[in-house]
Amino acid sequence: MKPMGTIPADYRAIGGELAVGGHPVSALVAEAGDTPLFVYDRAIMAARVAALRAALPAEVAIHYAMKANPNPDVVAAFAGLVDGLDVASAGEMGVALASGMAADHVSFAGPGKRDRELEAAIAAGVTLNLESAAEGWRAIAIAGRLGIRPRLAVRVNPDFEIKGSGMRMGGGARPFGVDEAEAAALCRDMIAAGADWRGFHIFAGSQALDAAAIIEAQAATLALAARLAEEVGALPPLVNLGGGFGIPYFPSEKPLDIDTIGAALGERLADRPAALAQSAFAIELGRWLVGEAGVYLTRIVDRKISHGEVFLVTDGGLHHQLAASGNFGTVVRRNYPVAIASRFTEEAAEVASIVGCLCTPLDRLAEKVLLPRAEVGDIVAVFMAGAYGATASPSAFLGHPPAIEMMVG
Ligand SMILES: *Cc1c(COP(=O)(O)O)cnc(C)c1O
Repeated sequence: MKPMGTIPADYRAIGGELAVGGHPVSALVAEAGDTPLFVYDRAIMAARVAALRAALPAEVAIHYAMKANPNPDVVAAFAGLVDGLDVASAGEMGVALASGMAADHVSFAGPGKRDRELEAAIAAGVTLNLESAAEGWRAIAIAGRLGIRPRLAVRVNPDFEIKGSGMRMGGGARPFGVDEAEAAALCRDMIAAGADWRGFHIFAGSQALDAAAIIEAQAATLALAARLAEEVGALPPLVNLGGGFGIPYFPSEKPLDIDTIGAALGERLADRPAALAQSAFAIELGRWLVGEAGVYLTRIVDRKISHGEVFLVTDGGLHHQLAASGNFGTVVRRNYPVAIASRFTEEAAEVASIVGCLCTPLDRLAEKVLLPRAEVGDIVAVFMAGAYGATASPSAFLGHPPAIEMMVG
């Protein structure tokens, strides 16, 4: 037997079944008309935003990083809850602008922006977080042709990263952002070229669960922003402090202590350097806001025994939920929290592995976990499926249909 992560405390049973947003899974599956499906609970998303607002200093804006889940209903729900949307492609930008979020509260980061993406952002009045000097000059040229003053911020590749970060996105040689040593010169050049300079974007890591490491990174980020502002010789209108807040996927992982982070950030902001006295601040989060709000539901189509081990074969798999299979940003495969959703309150009775319908040994949703005895037709729930699920999985692999996505709550 192998352990699994902890099911988020937000989930309840109705009539012995798992319920999401107050609806038992049988009703959700009936409404969707088929399995597999992702169900996103608006109430959990709203609760996360409210908890974050309560923890953070009032002056820190909350941005939703759409990459985690760009589903238009999810984005529209966040548009009414948060202060800004951060996008990473023109496609995401289209969804952001359709959500009702004002263009001047949308920023566009990400390497390899094409000319037509730069043009669409400039024309819409979206802030571009520049990933290189060359990208900055392309933006200036396009803006000149359009006759629009572009809103440009510089994404800085910090020399540090959040310690213990799940994915390496800053510190050392990276394709993201402009190295610390070159960032101030690029800001000066963009200001001289007539851009509406919006400030700095400094993102130092993702999926961190250690509050002390995030506090340290935020302090380093503020110090870096202040030093760069002095070098630029102008006050940055906005300092985007990045994010990196993680969620506990696996056994032994603990939820992040956001109150401690918020209190420390409040103290740092209260005695910040003069170069940042006029600045607004934001943090951008994807996974922390939406990861626990999503459940992936898939039906058992076969139950078999091989060499004495029970395999529950489902109609879902890694083509929808790659991360749960252990093939998205993890080195060692560990079990996400899972349940037999149609027998949510039944006693555990056997050790089984839950696999997908793809003909590859990588397609495991849970390995040797203790579950109630499940039969063909039962519904499996994979929790922590709200972030980096549907759109971060190779949905064309093996030619099965995409998963249905549904919003509740
Ligand atoms: C991916 C990404 C995010 C979101 O990261 P999470 O771990 O989902 O919070 C935020 N900002 C940038 C620049 C990113 O690339």
